[in-house]
Amino acid sequence: MQFKNTREFARSLDAQDKLISYKEEFIFPVINGKKVIYFTGNSLGLQPKRAQKYVNEIMNDWAGLAVEGHFKAEKPWWDYHERLTRPLAKVVGALPEEVTVMNTLTVNLHFLMVSFYRPTKRRFKIICEEKAFPSDQYMLASQVRFHGFDPKEAIVEIKKREGENFWRTEDVLKTIESTGDELALVLIGGVNYYNGQVFDMETITKAGKKAGAFVGWDLAHAAGNITLQLHDWDVDFAAWCSYKYMNSGPGNVSGIFVNKKYHGKKDIPRFEGWWGTKKETRFLMEPEFEPMPNAEAWQVSNAPVISFAPYLASLTLFDEVGMEALIAKRDLLTSYLEFVLKTIDDEIGINDVFEIITPPERGCQLSVFLHGQGKPLFDYLMENGVITDWREPNVIRLAPAPFYTSFEEMYEFGQILKKGILEN
Ligand SMILES: *Cc1c(COP(=O)(O)O)cnc(C)c1O
Repeated sequence: MQFKNTREFARSLDAQDKLISYKEEFIFPVINGKKVIYFTGNSLGLQPKRAQKYVNEIMNDWAGLAVEGHFKAEKPWWDYHERLTRPLAKVVGALPEEVTVMNTLTVNLHFLMVSFYRPTKRRFKIICEEKAFPSDQYMLASQVRFHGFDPKEAIVEIKKREGENFWRTEDVLKTIESTGDELALVLIGGVNYYNGQVFDMETITKAGKKAGAFVGWDLAHAAGNITLQLHDWDVDFAAWCSYKYMNSGPGNVSGIFVNKKYHGKKDIPRFEGWWGTKKETRFLMEPEFEPMPNAEAWQVSNAPVISFAPYLASLTLFDEVGMEALIAKRDLLTSYLEFVLKTIDDEIGINDVFEIITPPERGCQLSVFLHGQGKPLFDYLMENGVITDWREPNVIRLAPAPFYTSFEEMYEFGQILKKGILEN
């Protein structure tokens, strides 16, 4: 398609967009009387209008039924989490029994490490990407120390090459191979939070397993953003938060994936609680733990249903639209944003203000290095109703979430950005 950097052209794309009506399903902050242009759905997704109704339903059931709500609410609390399983499994390409929702992301990674990081004297190393999201780094290092190993020795980071802004799959594969039978686990962020790169999860998973290791993925920036086929890729485990592209609300609960082959086992190391034991006998309060025959065996506590409610509301939207349609729009929208950036770069006439550091393997995020610009530009954008995210040294991350972002907003953003650069 031949793009044009005009309002008219952007509007024509909106007119053909089958998802444009979903913009109305979300609540936008307002700055100076105008709805913001929101680029930070990779950090905190917007609130779906229907979330409030789902939360109120629980508040009302709690008021009217109190403890009876566990079994007598219209959506009973004791098995509320089951309602999220089917739509969520579709988002991540899993069997419904391989998915559940519990706790928060870093907590879940720790819990899953109990099952999937079982180092021995010989096989104790973990491969991850360099400069992983800090919480993941702390989590991995503390797990390694907990098992009596030295993170400096046990954690093998895949480096980017000199002068490059992305990781090469061949470098990941080479490191897996050279680590060989010392490799216990591969755990990488499926989409890197900083440069927006999508890792080749299928190929890396296959290589890690061939080396005899477990392979897990942190899907914080992947869930609801890219195509995932966790079951078919034979991933061992994965976890993701729900407040980024999944629009479930600040700090909200995390989803987990545990491959079917580990289900129904009593002898797998796992930290257990009453929400993981068979529901048929759960309330008999017997001393013996009988694992649920699915990922729910990893659940520990009863579900904080007030948090689950907005996630369930959001999942009804994903279920209506489907990942395929979201991804089709995502690709067009992000390409258009890229085109707008390149066009205004030419129009500004200073050589190459924008350097897109996101490689072609990407979801909806573009990370852009701003040469010769600084924090004042970021502040200017904010004052002019554009919410972006600034990372040191000089990178803005732009994630136009396809659920609620229009093509016209990309055009509009380009105009504001150009003015901001020329005036700052
Ligand atoms: C957002 C994000 C987290 C956040 O973890 P919480 O436990 O939900 O605070 C962790 N890891 C990655 C890669 C992230 O992008």
